[in-house]
Amino acid sequence: VYEVIKKVEDKIKSFITITPIETVYNYVDNLIKSNKHRIDRLKLFGVPIAIKDNISTKGIRTTCASKMLENYVPPYNATVIEKIMNEGGVIIGKTNMDEFAMGSTTETSAFYPTKNPWDLTKVPGGSSGGSATAIASGEAPLALGSDTGGSIRNPASFCGVYGLKPTYGLVSRYGLIAYASSMDQIGPMARNVTDLAMLLNVIAGYDPRDSTSVPIKQGVDYVDELYKLYYKEPKLRIGIIKEFFDGSEEPVRKAALKAVDVLCSHHKCSDISLPFPRQIIASYYIIAMAEASSNLARFDGVRYGIKINLDNKSWDEAFAEVRTRGFGYEVKKRIAVGAYILSAGYRDMYYIRALKFRRLLKEKFDQIFKSFDVVVSPTMPILPPKLGEFFEDPIRIYLADVNTVVANLIGSPAISIPIDFYNGLPIGLQAIAKQFSEPILLYIAKQLE
Ligand code: GLN
Repeated sequence: VYEVIKKVEDKIKSFITITPIETVYNYVDNLIKSNKHRIDRLKLFGVPIAIKDNISTKGIRTTCASKMLENYVPPYNATVIEKIMNEGGVIIGKTNMDEFAMGSTTETSAFYPTKNPWDLTKVPGGSSGGSATAIASGEAPLALGSDTGGSIRNPASFCGVYGLKPTYGLVSRYGLIAYASSMDQIGPMARNVTDLAMLLNVIAGYDPRDSTSVPIKQGVDYVDELYKLYYKEPKLRIGIIKEFFDGSEEPVRKAALKAVDVLCSHHKCSDISLPFPRQIIASYYIIAMAEASSNLARFDGVRYGIKINLDNKSWDEAFAEVRTRGFGYEVKKRIAVGAYILSAGYRDMYYIRALKFRRLLKEKFDQIFKSFDVVVSPTMPILPPKLGEFFEDPIRIYLADVNTVVANLIGSPAISIPIDFYNGLPIGLQAIAKQFSEPILLYIAKQLE
């Protein structure tokens, strides 16, 4: 992969930090020495994995693509990193992203935008853009992203790779720098379904260090479960979310319908309706911004963040200077709106109403999942836009998240499956299922592979 990185990295810019190759050699040498008798049992021995730069890596700079954390080197590993290293996986670098995972194109990165490997004039999606491009361009076979409202599935779709947002609570968030804690999940990205399932095997599981981690029985083998279903071919009940097809650009709609036809030749399909797309977006962004404004309060230059000269400055002045210099425009906007939403006079009008809507949406889906095993839609309603195009139209960019945010609001697992190309640009199909139904999503993906 280092050969590929040498060839393409300058053009694509997937990474913020690349592990020096000597470090990798030393690491693997040590692995062999310390595991003499069991390296063949390590699930990821020597496999290079790219990690989104909001996942803490001990001794490796972790920036969240923000000036605020430009020189931050975490003193500990996220649980997912521990798990990957316990299986012999090799962290080959930290990938570019939207600053603090706020965005859909990887353009809000404080350092540079990442480019779509299929067309360098287009965005790769986001916020886990660098993880997706690393896989799509051959810089890494596996990657981790994080998904609060689509940030794994959106770039997976725009770059033509597989991306899975697991059930909320299945993968530990310990060591993930928080954006909106009630929706954040770490998940795997890969070039094929088996790899995706294998990486999920390594990172899933209960972790007492994450209070929302779900103590389910250990030992689900997602590769096993996937192939059991794949060979048995059980018939599923598939719901087609009508509004999400109708709301998509024509080439996307057509490609997604073609994929649905393939599925429906084997499974039982019918239309379902989700008639409130605007409310879905509104409640997602209200909740995300409210939680972000609270989570990002810790970047004050004392606990975390850039260090400034404090001479003769009051706390307020110092706090303001650190945050003015450290945060980019999109992050500042969301903190401001989030604080407003949570303020005494407006809390009930915005935040509490958004929570109520979230509850109703969850109840709606509890009903849907009584009659359906899985629901499908295009992952993104649009093709990858041109670099810069979205910057001029923030509302349009928020609205494009409507298909993906649903899964985060209700805590369900969701996958993006690459299905087709239009004018050389990839298109993805999204499938959402009941909590802890990851095997069903992998099965559907495998059928379309
Ligand atoms: N585009 C969405 C947002 O900006 C999703 C981001 C994410 O999943 N991290 O909030």
